[in-house]
Amino acid sequence: MLQPSDSLEGIPWISASRTKSLNRLQLFTVRDMLEHFPRRHEDRRQFDRFPQDETTEPVCVCGVVTKTALKRFRGWQKCFEIVLEDAEAGVLSTPLTCRWFNLHYVQKMIATGMRIVVYGKAKRRGKQIVIDHPEFEVVENDAEVSVHLKRIAPVHPAGEGVTPRWMRFAIYQLLEQTQLDAAPDFLPPEWRALPYGNALREIHFPSSFESLAESRRLLVFQEFFLLQMLIGTRRMEREQLKIAPRLPTGKLLKGLQEQLPFSLTKAQLRVIEEIRQDLHLPKPMSRLLQGDVGSGKTLVALSAMLMAVEGGKQAALMAPTQILAEQHYLQCQRWLKPLGLRIALRTSARNEEDAMPLFDGEGAPQIIVGTHALLYEKSAFTNLGLAVIDEQHKFGVLQRARLLSRGDAPDLLVMTATPIPRTLSLTIYGDLDVSLLDELPAGRGAIITAARGVEKLPEIVQFLRKQLDAGRQAYIVYPLVEESDKLVAKAATAEFERWRPLLAPYICELLHGRIAPEEKDAVMTRFRNGQTHALVATTVIEVGVDVPNANFMLIENAERFGLAQLHQLRGRIGRGEFKSYCILLNNGKSDEALEKLTILEKTADGFEIAEADLRLRGPGDLIGTAQSGLPQMKLGDFFRDADLMTQARNAALKILKEDALLKAADHAALRTRVDALRQSVPVHTE
Ligand code: ADP
Ligand code: MG
Repeated sequence: MLQPSDSLEGIPWISASRTKSLNRLQLFTVRDMLEHFPRRHEDRRQFDRFPQDETTEPVCVCGVVTKTALKRFRGWQKCFEIVLEDAEAGVLSTPLTCRWFNLHYVQKMIATGMRIVVYGKAKRRGKQIVIDHPEFEVVENDAEVSVHLKRIAPVHPAGEGVTPRWMRFAIYQLLEQTQLDAAPDFLPPEWRALPYGNALREIHFPSSFESLAESRRLLVFQEFFLLQMLIGTRRMEREQLKIAPRLPTGKLLKGLQEQLPFSLTKAQLRVIEEIRQDLHLPKPMSRLLQGDVGSGKTLVALSAMLMAVEGGKQAALMAPTQILAEQHYLQCQRWLKPLGLRIALRTSARNEEDAMPLFDGEGAPQIIVGTHALLYEKSAFTNLGLAVIDEQHKFGVLQRARLLSRGDAPDLLVMTATPIPRTLSLTIYGDLDVSLLDELPAGRGAIITAARGVEKLPEIVQFLRKQLDAGRQAYIVYPLVEESDKLVAKAATAEFERWRPLLAPYICELLHGRIAPEEKDAVMTRFRNGQTHALVATTVIEVGVDVPNANFMLIENAERFGLAQLHQLRGRIGRGEFKSYCILLNNGKSDEALEKLTILEKTADGFEIAEADLRLRGPGDLIGTAQSGLPQMKLGDFFRDADLMTQARNAALKILKEDALLKAADHAALRTRVDALRQSVPVHTE
């Protein structure tokens, strides 16, 4: 018998070249193969009837190839066409035509007389019923029928050198040959009824769709449960740290509030109070601050930092971009310096320190603002008591851990403007307490959003000029990916040259990720001071930039952005008292894109937009699991299986409440699994 941990290399019926192909799919052991779950299942107990008309859903039919032909189209291009007949239905059924365009290998695989299974949506072409580019599988001989036909057959993700058919065969074999654990003894008792081996067998080769669903639930629960245990034990570790209560005096905080030209919103006051209470506890704070763009998170952060300083500690604020770090530094200088604080800036481009005469000779800064550079900073940190991370979704868990390691169990406040559904936040931020800034400051001008086709550009330019005439400023944004450096610089420069004459005599400047940091800084400063009137920019301005006089944003190629990102970008305007305008330009051809953009015309609610975005695009890499420090889910879907996530979380919390460090003998098996998982997703650096 094989063991799940056995390497695929030693298995005689898997050739060396096949093993290489499997390795490329990240499959190395028997367990990897058994946990290579199907993409979908085809009900081959009973094939669909041959379609007699167009279908809206894909059909799965089995037939005999009666004709093949290679046809030319558009001159030199080739189309391979076959005719399939339903062996059982006889002459009454319309034959099905399948076509593959410019796919030479298909032609080598299919010949007249073969029995094949095809899967796809049918359409009508004249008298013919056609499926273009169906998924297909040749049924080779009757011996294999028991694996591939007359059952609910799995279709696995495949790749170069491994067809779905081979994969199905291999997994079938491995299920027969492997010694599988009887019951997953690390699961909570109520989940131990269905043995793991059975569940695996059923998820690949189900005896019915009901048992497929049941097995899937067990395996998803298991996956989620381990995930929640991972998050939970990480949290417990921090909870176990004992530190002295911080006892802020409130003096500096009062000083700050007296200087502000506005009063704090109720939501801001509530969250500041939540933080103050955390600081009175004998364990470090771990808090997430969620608030839509423009809800005033920075002020909450500054308030928290002041409380840390009141308690005699240093506070650090880390931002994902140079521009944002500089802006936070400016705000600290404006609002905290008058209180007599020593503030320092640390970015890769600039290191600056304010020595306040009041504190002559005292040296170390009390407030340190910076970018990733903070993670490598050595000298400034002498007594870090609070780490604040702005726009948390731009950082990974690793970086969070690293910033925390600059001090001795410092408090943690992370902030994000990316609203996510609750089940997801339980997962990604399951190790944090959550505060919500659910109120925008009063006195904001409304933002009017309009999705328009390119043909409207001349009118838009007219309108933009009117705003500039009125003394306002504008952003013109391009969806250029910052990573592809040189091309971006070139494309952005070209656009900039196009805009300059259009807006003259108003002054236009260019901003993108490839501009040297000092220059970037200078450009931003001139824009902030109103010396320049329009900024042609890439998405470098997506996060955090705050220039209240800018009330106009034109987003070119808006159809290429996700809704949530457009919402973030739009958050750069509507920050002052002026009415603001956001124009989403659809340079694409599809009306569907324009349709999507109109969602932003209708709502400014970040949560609603995030949900719409998820519906339209799927979760994708929303979580960026790789960088969030969470393992990739093999089976579970954070949205579809939300109820299981909640159950898994409750089960994990229950166990950790009784046995935070999993010391009990009952939990030995669980501890082994969780430890293994933790090692595969390392979080702690150094
Ligand atoms: P975000 O939550 O997007 O980070 P910011 O902290 O940048 O938002 O705040 C947006 C703008 O609102 C800033 O110009 C800030 O000075 C201002 N602001 C913050 N709190 C208030 C308030 N209570 N009343 C009025 N304006 C505020
Ligand atoms: Mg912000």
